[in-house]
Amino acid sequence: MAALFCQTAAHAMTHAASASRHAIIIGGGPAGLMAAEVLSQAGVRVDLYDAMPSVGRKFLLAGVGGMNITHSEAYPAFLSRYAERAPQIAPLLREFGADALRQWIHDLGIETFVGTSGRVFPTDMKAAPLLRAWLKRLREQGVTIHTRQRWLGWNADGSLRLQGPDGETRLHSDALLLALGGGSWARLGSDGAWVPLLAARGVALAPLQPSNCGFDVQAWSELLVSKFAGAPLKNIAMGLNDDLPRLGECVLTASGIEGSLVYALSAPIREAINRDGAATVHLDLLPGKAQGQVEAALARPRGSRSMSKHLHSQVGIDGVKAALLRELAPKEAFDDPARLAAAIKALPLRLVKTRPLDEAISSAGGVPFEAMDPSLMLTALPGVFCAGEMLDWEAPTGGYLLTACFASGRAAGLGLLGWLNQGLQSGVEATTL
Ligand SMILES: Cc1cc2nc3c(=O)[nH]c(=O)nc-3n(C[C@H](O)[C@H](O)[C@H](O)COP(=O)(O)OP(=O)(O)OC[C@H]3O[C@@H](n4cnc5c(N)ncnc54)[C@H](O)[C@@H]3O)c2cc1C
Repeated sequence: MAALFCQTAAHAMTHAASASRHAIIIGGGPAGLMAAEVLSQAGVRVDLYDAMPSVGRKFLLAGVGGMNITHSEAYPAFLSRYAERAPQIAPLLREFGADALRQWIHDLGIETFVGTSGRVFPTDMKAAPLLRAWLKRLREQGVTIHTRQRWLGWNADGSLRLQGPDGETRLHSDALLLALGGGSWARLGSDGAWVPLLAARGVALAPLQPSNCGFDVQAWSELLVSKFAGAPLKNIAMGLNDDLPRLGECVLTASGIEGSLVYALSAPIREAINRDGAATVHLDLLPGKAQGQVEAALARPRGSRSMSKHLHSQVGIDGVKAALLRELAPKEAFDDPARLAAAIKALPLRLVKTRPLDEAISSAGGVPFEAMDPSLMLTALPGVFCAGEMLDWEAPTGGYLLTACFASGRAAGLGLLGWLNQGLQSGVEATTL
């Protein structure tokens, strides 16, 4: 990397003469494109490379089910979604948080609205019009996008290796910004193949792990799978340890559970599995009723009716909820209204494994903030900046992922701009490094 640095420093000085600065960005997701925006706005010549035939594929996929681009909740609550990484994310959001992001979208000619949950969406819920308008603006600002160009790391002389349809090319640049995404949904481009490339250059990385992911149980019964795999568990609550159970819904899958309620708890569940080999969550199948109410209803005489009918008529439990209760509650509980009520209000579900990273909505792990300076430049690789989901932070769904990707893309772009300007002004210092 020292070689690259000397080369980039030399370039910086060459460009000082021509006052033309150049940056290479690898990765055309929201983070890389945002970096391209701030750099091109500042007059830097930007070449952006992406391995895929087009940029922003995951961003477009995020728009398929309704593009939740940010959240309208108050800043302290918003920031708390980044949990232990909140202190590192805070400066990024202070510069470009939810309000700034919404304004930026409006400036692209796309209106937004706040849903009942406080989530913010483009008015048409789609990502494609936004991406189209954005790419048009970037091209007008002089950003050159090169697709089908896979970054393979560095040559021994510090130049960059890019593999395209016509073979491998080597590139030199004043500075490099990596926005390569995490490790999920590899078919959209973010395959995590950058991990060994940075590790080989002395960057200490946190392993990529699934975040906002589903979980496996040891094994569901064949009956449950055959009748209820794919069935939604609506209006339930889920809790881990002594935390207040969270309301929401999830889906029973052939091997476990997934869905928004599970994603919201995925970080602590994953950590508990990493630590203890398994995590037990408790499901409340009737969050609207107190345990005493449920018990009183179940204690009513059931006469000749079956237990299924009794559960259905007295407390409204049937279908997948009834099947899950049968699967997880002890047999004897069905003869004891108090025990059955307790099971309905806190049904223990043991989760043993995360679903594979590729299936997850996002990744945890990646480049730790400790490996970068405040401008998001790698301390091990001066002149190399990182942004987006490849950084070691995670957040639940709700627009927090995209917001931090945009914010870090902007911060890294501005960091790189500062680096270029510093190179222009202090060439002597640069050569001595
Ligand atoms: C199904 C789904 C729905 C989602 N919905 C939402 C949502 O509603 N709201 C939200 O906030 N977030 C959502 N997300 C998450 C969000 O889309 C991502 O967090 C975000 O796209 C990450 O942005 P990024 O720029 O860091 O990386 P990415 O968008 O992953 O972009 C990385 C780019 O780098 C390129 N690349 C990688 N390696 C190389 C290489 N070696 N050489 C060249 N190019 C390379 C890739 O091709 C890709 O274009 C969703 C994710 C998924 C999977």
